[in-house]
Amino acid sequence: MLRLCVLHLQKEKRMLGKGTKLYSILRLKCPRCNEGDFYKGRPYSYSGMGKVKENCSECKLKYNIEPWFFQGSYYVAYALGVALFIAVCVLKLIFFPNMGPGTLLISVIVSFTVFSLSIYALSKIIWINIFVKYDPAFLKKK
Ligand SMILES: [Zn+2]
Repeated sequence: MLRLCVLHLQKEKRMLGKGTKLYSILRLKCPRCNEGDFYKGRPYSYSGMGKVKENCSECKLKYNIEPWFFQGSYYVAYALGVALFIAVCVLKLIFFPNMGPGTLLISVIVSFTVFSLSIYALSKIIWINIFVKYDPAFLKKK
């Protein structure tokens, strides 16, 4: 049992460890070096919402790879929104199966209000992670 837990933790460390896409996405770090911050200030506040830095402070990767690059992140935001909607529907069916459609509508509105900033912030970092690979040797190349 203990060995199973250790194996599980090692696998989890590999999935969330430095050098993975998940590390960059969840910690909002540069996709190439996993060191520099991706957003200016606090991305989960309305004042700092979606303000991406020009370059990575560590490896100097230009985040806005081409003009209108982050327009594509709207596809990711749409997918995250659909996933959130499905999750809310499933949770409503499991915990409140006898409540009417008004409950679902209110649940969807509340969840989108709560998670809108997260969806917006995550969509941009996921989008750039599709195009930029982790390169640990890049910092040494400088
Ligand atoms: Zn970097």
